[in-house]
Amino acid sequence: MANVTLEHVTKRYEDVTAVDDMNLDIRDGEFVCLVGPSGCGKSTTMETIAGLTKPTEGTIKIGERDVTKLPPKDRGVAMVFQNIALFPHMDVYDNISFGLRLRKYDTEEIERRVEHATEVVQLEGMLDRMPEEMSGGQRQRVAIARAIVRQPDVFLMDEPLANLDAKLRVHMRTELQRLHKKLDTTIIYVTHDQAEAMTMSDRIAVINAGELQQIDPPLICYNEPANLFVAGFIGSPSMNLINGELTNNGIQTDTFSVDFDPSILEGVSPGDQVTLGVRPEDVYLTDQSEGVGNATKPKHVTTDVLEPMGNEIFVYLNLDDSKERSMADAEGAAKGQLLMSVDPDTEIDEDQSVDIVLDRSSLHLFDTETGDALLHGLETPVAVSDETGTVAESDS
Ligand code: ADP
Repeated sequence: MANVTLEHVTKRYEDVTAVDDMNLDIRDGEFVCLVGPSGCGKSTTMETIAGLTKPTEGTIKIGERDVTKLPPKDRGVAMVFQNIALFPHMDVYDNISFGLRLRKYDTEEIERRVEHATEVVQLEGMLDRMPEEMSGGQRQRVAIARAIVRQPDVFLMDEPLANLDAKLRVHMRTELQRLHKKLDTTIIYVTHDQAEAMTMSDRIAVINAGELQQIDPPLICYNEPANLFVAGFIGSPSMNLINGELTNNGIQTDTFSVDFDPSILEGVSPGDQVTLGVRPEDVYLTDQSEGVGNATKPKHVTTDVLEPMGNEIFVYLNLDDSKERSMADAEGAAKGQLLMSVDPDTEIDEDQSVDIVLDRSSLHLFDTETGDALLHGLETPVAVSDETGTVAESDS
């Protein structure tokens, strides 16, 4: 077992900076997912840890050892990749034990390790099967067993489930979690699939354009995103993001006015551009908002498209003023829209006028210019008299 530390790791390819001053401190026994959009530098980061790529700058440590200049075989890491490269002419036993035989381990030791690994990945009874006689999931388990027998300090997995069908991916996700529990070894796992990252990780490292954006437990990334990028990337569908301005009384967007004392925010002052973030599940139809103790005042909007998902309905809402900019990400609401999630038994139609409120305790505020988070969750407003000049909560 070992911790993995990246200190100021940068990898440049001619005019591309694939990894930009990356600092990571992955603890002994931790399961950390590197997530981010395609081309953000996940695989390159992983390759520098594996020793397949030499960083342009920076230091990589595994345990107390500086491994920056060591070849892959001396780093104590084992890799599992998206493409399962099993030897087609060898049975499962020979595939799993190949590396050990190459390193001239004695037969008893090889047998002991293969037995243990096949038990961990539940491949007992299949040792004499040929790869062509196995399903995609079984072949991937052989690849994992082959990594386990090496008894590495660290497992490096680069999209190992990417080629499997959706059902099998979900199944393998739980298998990998079980595997991690059993082996108690550090696992670094690359994926662009945030559902994988959310369900398996102890911590998620969110990367964009070669730069680390946030490394935190999944629910912290979800509930307290460090910046606009993480807010838009973690969560499906995406958080609604609405541009506005900080005023003396709070935030004013074209549609919403949410009151609070702006002096609670650091680094911005009235007149600055701020972005209001609200997840679809924190937008409520007014007549379903009894349980929301800390709601904004109702706002009148029109429904657009409905997406019944079975366990919930996604409702796209047209904001009165289409100057609003909502999250225009792949799975988010389009410009001028707000996405709301409601119970599946809600009676709602397209092109219907509805009143909505936002749960103030779950609102997020970001500095529009830097993208940095300013605040997660507003306190319940205290109703005070007008003489004080403080307005408890208002709507535009
Ligand atoms: P990800 O794994 O997040 O999809 P990569 O780490 O593969 O991203 O790539 C990060 C960036 O570095 C991309 O812009 C990619 O085109 C570039 N890149 C990766 N490998 C090479 C290489 N060998 N030569 C040149 N550019 C590369």
